[in-house]
Amino acid sequence: MNLAQDEAVELTSELIRIDTSNTGELETTVGERAAAEYVRGKLEEVGYETVYVESGAPGRGNVFARLAGADPSRGALLIHGHLDVVPADPTEWSVHPFSGAVQDGYIWGRGAVDMKDMVAMTLAVARRFKRDGIVPPRDLVFAFLADEEAGGHYGSQWLVEHRPDLFDGVTEAVGEVGGFSVTLGEDVRAYTIEIAEKGIAWMRLRVRGRAGHGSMLHDDNAVTKLAAAVARLGAHEFPLVITDSVRAFFDSVASLTGVAFDEDDLPGAVAKLGPFSRVVGATLRDTANPTMLNAGYKANVIPSVAEAVVDCRVLPGREEAFLREVDEILGPDVEREWVSRLPAVETTFDGDLVAAMTAAVRAEDAGARTIPYVLSGGTDAKAIHTLGIRCFGFAPLQLPPDLDFTALFHGVDERVPVDAVRFGTRVLDRFLRNC
Ligand SMILES: [Zn+2]
Repeated sequence: MNLAQDEAVELTSELIRIDTSNTGELETTVGERAAAEYVRGKLEEVGYETVYVESGAPGRGNVFARLAGADPSRGALLIHGHLDVVPADPTEWSVHPFSGAVQDGYIWGRGAVDMKDMVAMTLAVARRFKRDGIVPPRDLVFAFLADEEAGGHYGSQWLVEHRPDLFDGVTEAVGEVGGFSVTLGEDVRAYTIEIAEKGIAWMRLRVRGRAGHGSMLHDDNAVTKLAAAVARLGAHEFPLVITDSVRAFFDSVASLTGVAFDEDDLPGAVAKLGPFSRVVGATLRDTANPTMLNAGYKANVIPSVAEAVVDCRVLPGREEAFLREVDEILGPDVEREWVSRLPAVETTFDGDLVAAMTAAVRAEDAGARTIPYVLSGGTDAKAIHTLGIRCFGFAPLQLPPDLDFTALFHGVDERVPVDAVRFGTRVLDRFLRNC
């Protein structure tokens, strides 16, 4: 056991040293093949057979491996992690973002929490099971994936479409973003289990008008009309909706802390959760944030077309109502098309797998509890879920109460406590023996 938790720290650091920056552009995205080969080597070294697949473009490397369980009649459990990271600018960091430095009790670098830590914990436990001949109760499928940070078009989305065979027999899955502890009230430690994700709806808006000279009277200016529509949408506040999974979160927190959420002032009640409120607050309503604008090419030419991109995030069950609302705000002059559209994912906080996660956490942190929550962002679960697989976010980490964990995601000086990775490896080991 000690070996696996020590190894997980080492593997996290080594994985960080492989720069896998995903810029969203094929030409400038690097390192996924090298990281996949590294993972593959670690698995094959202890006797796994692996499958290496490049998903849709050269270098977009993914690795799969299976470990047979005691009861082949049960559905397999998928444990998935992504190998890519978002870029980092070394001039902003206290240590080099691809150093993987282990100092002051932390492992430092891009990917430390998103999510080379979990990749390393998974690898360490997979290696231990193989080395020691540990047979899990059901088949395990380990997947290490490319391109999560740009929506999985060259990763999970491609794989579920072109290689669904790699997921054969899988009924449930665990990946990011959950499992980390949050300290509620005085000293109640709760471990999050992600049961839902908002949908991603990136839309391009386009307005056409009449081209003309900038010096003349003009009543059909595409820029004016687009700008007004974008301003209306960006300023719009979508209705507060408490979905089933957000309700489950509120109920769990209330039962742990003894303090009920004031439904007349939910944003105020959520703010009391501290930094975690940045995530929870965004799961109370749909959002539409304009992110790109594009029109024109000369100061005195009125262009015939103006475009904008809006990053919309939609609650489970709200897609139709959301679109109706958006179209009403935009009006008839604005065309819209999808840049990326990934529906929300939602499951329930119950069943044997949730019980197994909870038991594994409690065995390592007596008295701790698990709570369900909704992620405002998106993960590979969006693609994996389309195969009928039930998805959870569970990458266990015991965190110091004062650490602003959610700010570390894609943040400067991203780092993870060494002890958290050691703890997480022990929890994952227990969980996968009893899943
Ligand atoms: Zn991630």
